[in-house]
Amino acid sequence: MRTIRDMTSILISGASIAGTTLAYWLREHGFTVTVVERATEVREGGYKVDIRGAALEVVERMGLLEKIRTLRTDVRTGSVVDGGGRQVAGMDGDSFGGRVHQDAELHRGDLARLLHEATGGVEHVFGDSIASIDGTRVTFDSGLVRHFDLIVGADGLHSNTRALAFGPEERFVHDLGYNVSIFSVPNHLGLDREELTYVGPGRTALLYSTRQDTGAKAMFLWAAGSTARDRAGQQRALADAYRGSGWEVPRLLEAMAEAPDFYCDSLSQVRMDSWHAGRVALVGDAAYCASPASGQGTSLALVGAYVLAGELKRAAGDHATAFPAYEARMRPFVAANQALGTGNIKRMVLSSPFQVRMSMVMLRLVNLLPGKDRIMAKVVEPIHRAATAIDLPASW
Ligand SMILES: Cc1cc2nc3c(=O)[nH]c(=O)nc-3n(C[C@H](O)[C@H](O)[C@H](O)COP(=O)(O)OP(=O)(O)OC[C@H]3O[C@@H](n4cnc5c(N)ncnc54)[C@H](O)[C@@H]3O)c2cc1C
Repeated sequence: MRTIRDMTSILISGASIAGTTLAYWLREHGFTVTVVERATEVREGGYKVDIRGAALEVVERMGLLEKIRTLRTDVRTGSVVDGGGRQVAGMDGDSFGGRVHQDAELHRGDLARLLHEATGGVEHVFGDSIASIDGTRVTFDSGLVRHFDLIVGADGLHSNTRALAFGPEERFVHDLGYNVSIFSVPNHLGLDREELTYVGPGRTALLYSTRQDTGAKAMFLWAAGSTARDRAGQQRALADAYRGSGWEVPRLLEAMAEAPDFYCDSLSQVRMDSWHAGRVALVGDAAYCASPASGQGTSLALVGAYVLAGELKRAAGDHATAFPAYEARMRPFVAANQALGTGNIKRMVLSSPFQVRMSMVMLRLVNLLPGKDRIMAKVVEPIHRAATAIDLPASW
């Protein structure tokens, strides 16, 4: 006999962290799942991301923790450098990245691939996108029309599902007043699993290499209004923002024209009064992007997907019960982690030359202190608190 869950068909838009984790758990709970992804395959590559706190429990329950350990970036050291490239302060890679205990850092693309490999039995449709939603009737860009009981948008910061079911992006995406750019560069300093940070007024630049990467990645965070939408405009804005910067910045900027994976966007958070409307719900960045400055977007996506799938199981597919329950369980966790994003960015990008000078003096002092590990532990503590600010039921 088929159960209510077998008969509930769920369409997920987006095959990245949130969408694929949701697909995994919904399939485990017996639902019929289809994932539609705009890209023609699982998107590989990208920057490094963290899995912390409650999110570790989610991947452990998926049986993926050991594999994730083998994919760790293994960044051994993190340093702040001055305009001449001299080290101002240095520490081990995990402390520098705000990680404690089992927290793991890996490439976003590696995680996406691993999650995808775990979703056998789920129908995937690549190279298509939802064009319209009318109750249970979904029309795709390809012209295909299908019916689903429920639709979940896991399609990221600029979510298509959110725009179709909730309204225009401007209502929900809040620009924090900074831009972020990241792209691959030649590893001309010969970094070996190291991360370097250079801080100037209103602009910060990072360069890192990981175990998986023979090259390096350059990342830029700078105070600015909304970024241009086109690549040429974004590259001009980035070059203007860092004009006159010291350290390796001019050389890194020279490399951006050739970068195959240039990424640039405003640093934003998604804030919504509700993450569900009728038969449609949102998960991950689409619903509650905390911004890359939080370092918690991946963990929010993993935990949110686990909770949404669990509440749907508990309610036997009744979305009118499950969607509000998902939201109630996730709200405090999201609030704690979004607060990290708005707080961290002010420490990552310093506003004035005075702040930069003071910060360098402090870092030099801390670097000389015998108890610098204990001081760092205090810095990491709020991240750990936010990352564990939810109790996950062992079963649903
Ligand atoms: C530069 C940068 C640095 C970051 N650093 C960190 C970090 O250090 N730690 C951390 O935890 N997080 C970090 N993040 C955040 C992290 O990448 C995201 O929070 C996380 O990937 C969210 O997952 P998601 O599945 O919700 O969305 P995404 O990963 O954005 O995935 C959305 C998916 O939807 C697909 N899609 C988009 N539009 C459509 C459509 N119309 N139809 C179908 N599919 C569509 C996309 O192709 C993509 O596959 C960073 C992000 C950036 C940009």
